[in-house]
Amino acid sequence: MDFQIDKVIGIITREVRNYQTPVVDLMAVQGESPFKILVATILSARTKDEVTAAACKRLFKKVDGPPALAELSETELEKIIYPVGFYRNKAQYLSKLPKVLAERFNGEVPQEMADLLSLPGVGRKTANLVLAVAFGKLAICVDTHVHRIMNIWGYVKTSTPLQTEMALRKKLPQKYWLTINANLVSFGQQTCKPVAPACSRCVLADCCPKIGVRSGKKAKLPTQAGAKKIVSWNVNGLRAVYKKGFLDILKDFDADIFALQEIKAMVEQLPGELVEVPGYYSYWYPAVKKGYSGTAVYTKKKPLEVLYGIGEDGFDQEGRVLTLEYEDFYFVNIYAPNAQCELKRLDFKIAFNNALLQYIEKLSKKKSVVLCGDLNVAHTSIDLANPKSNEGNAGFSPLERAWMDELMAAGYIDSFRKYCSEPHKYTWWSYRFRAREKNIGWRIDYFLLDSKSESRLVGAEIHEDIMGSDHCPVSIGFV
Ligand code: SF4
Repeated sequence: MDFQIDKVIGIITREVRNYQTPVVDLMAVQGESPFKILVATILSARTKDEVTAAACKRLFKKVDGPPALAELSETELEKIIYPVGFYRNKAQYLSKLPKVLAERFNGEVPQEMADLLSLPGVGRKTANLVLAVAFGKLAICVDTHVHRIMNIWGYVKTSTPLQTEMALRKKLPQKYWLTINANLVSFGQQTCKPVAPACSRCVLADCCPKIGVRSGKKAKLPTQAGAKKIVSWNVNGLRAVYKKGFLDILKDFDADIFALQEIKAMVEQLPGELVEVPGYYSYWYPAVKKGYSGTAVYTKKKPLEVLYGIGEDGFDQEGRVLTLEYEDFYFVNIYAPNAQCELKRLDFKIAFNNALLQYIEKLSKKKSVVLCGDLNVAHTSIDLANPKSNEGNAGFSPLERAWMDELMAAGYIDSFRKYCSEPHKYTWWSYRFRAREKNIGWRIDYFLLDSKSESRLVGAEIHEDIMGSDHCPVSIGFV
């Protein structure tokens, strides 16, 4: 389909006139000073617009420029700007800002990219936004919405916001540079959302190629009054999926518990905003070996206790099992080993599976157990697209499948199969041969519940529309 950027931007510009204007752009329209626009931009990162607007209102009642900002202590700033995301870090940046501006820029906000980037708390996105919005300079701010939507349209084919910015600098007509961010942030927040883009009511439904969007249907999360929403996702590298909008996905799911497998990173290698997500406690269990395996959990409710591993060093070095104990259940997040090509690691995997089964049996004597994660096995022939040709291969070998049988025999429930017995429902697709596009996949990510918990299950879903990893998230509702 012929994708005409002028036509599309014209449609979007008209459409978002009915939407709420992002707070920083609104301030520019209202003629606020570059200093206030810079401060608002710093506050707005990873924060809902209404929260930023309220924090700006409180702050700008006391502060009209750098000297007044210098009068406030870091603690006072924290109180004023709370609850913006990362308010402690942002209070630190703001408290350093007046001194840097005074010493290096005569107390003014600089108008060059390199100078802006030297200010505390200012990254490329903030610098571009200040240049475009405060000074009307030719700059393209690329929020994750811009990066995501430009790729959905096929206008760019990039992996990171920085690559998108560079690609747009080459091909996007300059007349759109200053406004593209505001338009696509509004559009991305309200129509082309990272989870469940509303294609059926989208003004671009007829011309959008929807690259990487598998369907426009709403991502259903199990709901029942009082039910907890629990999500599990093998992200295959958290740093990579972060650049593809992970935080938007996390926010959109609004899950009570969000478990990750294969994070492939030490905590200190992760951006702060991934570790400290407003509204969540987070627990991390990376492998000893860098860039390999590892699990993590975000939870809205603080658990009574967190258990790292299953008490066997050989497995625990790989950060494969992370357990959160709540009042009425154990939540066990698992990344099972891959048996590997020619079943080279099958023995290790089976030993892990057996140790895991013993571990969860012990837990289930005390209270309900909910297990989730990438078990790296398709249980039955309807759980993969090509059972015949994969017979005996890693992930579909008799021993691995027998372990799943054993688990079921011990009373564990495969939550998804309680609601759906259809084939062609997968959670992992190879990156090769356009497997995801053709839905040649495997269902190897599960939520399993012990028999005591079955009556507490109120729904189970596979979210195949969510991109960013070679796996998609799975979820349950649990009362
Ligand atoms: S049609 Fe769907 S994918 Fe395309 S822009 Fe609209 S909401 Fe986004």
